[in-house]
Amino acid sequence: MAGDPVALVSDGGIMTVEHKWFLELGEITAVHFECKSCGATLGFPADNWKALAPVKCKNCDHEWMMTGGAADKAFKSFGETLQRLRGESDALGCRVSLEFDGRAEKEGKQ
Ligand SMILES: [Zn+2]
Repeated sequence: MAGDPVALVSDGGIMTVEHKWFLELGEITAVHFECKSCGATLGFPADNWKALAPVKCKNCDHEWMMTGGAADKAFKSFGETLQRLRGESDALGCRVSLEFDGRAEKEGKQ
């Protein structure tokens, strides 16, 4: 992931550096799910993810999404699309990346 500073912003005489982060599809190594109830995580390697999203926490049974519901279907579609795009990325004449701002880093969140 590239995170070079892209802008200097003057804010009342204080200079701050803003970062933008770019993640290429080929750099995605895993898809992680984190339980909002207990914090347990479950990760799937991007190369072998079967595009099935866990519908509940394996640790505390907190429901994450309804089986066959909109989110469940969207994750299946997302997983299939991700696999297809990763497989086709070498044949493309362009690089595809996702852009993130550095806000989570500045606020101490990861
Ligand atoms: Zn949980």
